[in-house]
Amino acid sequence: MPDSIPRLGIGTWQNTDPEACANAVATALDAGYRHVDTAQAYHNEEHVGEGLARADVDIEDVFVATKLHPRTTGLSHDDVIEGAQESCDRLGVDQIDLLYVHWPTGDYEPAETLPAYDELVERGLVDRVGLSNFTPELLDEAKSHLDAPITAHQVEMHPLLQQRELREYAREDDHWLVAYSPLARGEVFDVPEVEAVAEKHGVSEAQVSLAWLLTKENVAAIPKATSEAHVRDNYAALNLDLDPEDVERIDAIDREERLVEIDGAPWL
Ligand code: NAP
Repeated sequence: MPDSIPRLGIGTWQNTDPEACANAVATALDAGYRHVDTAQAYHNEEHVGEGLARADVDIEDVFVATKLHPRTTGLSHDDVIEGAQESCDRLGVDQIDLLYVHWPTGDYEPAETLPAYDELVERGLVDRVGLSNFTPELLDEAKSHLDAPITAHQVEMHPLLQQRELREYAREDDHWLVAYSPLARGEVFDVPEVEAVAEKHGVSEAQVSLAWLLTKENVAAIPKATSEAHVRDNYAALNLDLDPEDVERIDAIDREERLVEIDGAPWL
């Protein structure tokens, strides 16, 4: 297994209301989450930082992940170096635990962008490097330009997009596959196989989707939730033990439904 990261994190995309975002992060930390996922492109790092400050936890114990974006901030060498410092300032941390390349598009140039990430690790501003929305070919290319190991590859993953190839790649490369949109942005509530397993255990479809993801070796998940009820419901997935036949039933779903797409996505 790669170096550990907390396997359940709180996602924050589209949580841009200052109070709602700070409150969701603080509520999650008070409920037990120790992994927070944000990005410069979400325009909420300050609010996430406010939540981190407000929660009754030592910030050293929280795994804070953010991302630099090819369009929002740019991925040239100087943009990366300056962008990481700006993220630290907004988040109120001395070091970012995991800094991702958000998308391998726009001005992402592996030979320029990735050595800048290595430089941030050497300077101590970043602890670990992550990539997001890459293909196996782009991961191979990235590895040839990075000294630091890839700690995590963050991609869309849920029962309707099971990412079998990238899971295998992650196992072989010994990195985490971090599942974004792990509730399929709400679609899991209407997947018959997930509904049946939820009914059997008397839990929500959200919990089933997350518990299923967490049965996979090397997979972490970062559901976004705003209300306390959702934050706590998702956290309870850590205590849900699915039976082998439940896992097989969801494994057998043969749908490829991608919900997050941008112009220039590498799989287009
Ligand atoms: P998601 O986590 O699959 O779904 C979020 C939606 O589900 C929200 O509408 C939320 O509502 C609702 N929800 C959460 N818990 C629930 C529960 N227990 N019961 C009922 N509804 C519930 O979607 P996502 O936000 O797309 O993905 C999660 C995180 O992944 C993002 O926030 C972001 O941090 C990351 N992400 C990364 C990328 C990337 O390119 N790297 C792309 C997309 C997402 P409320 O908010 O009202 O609670």
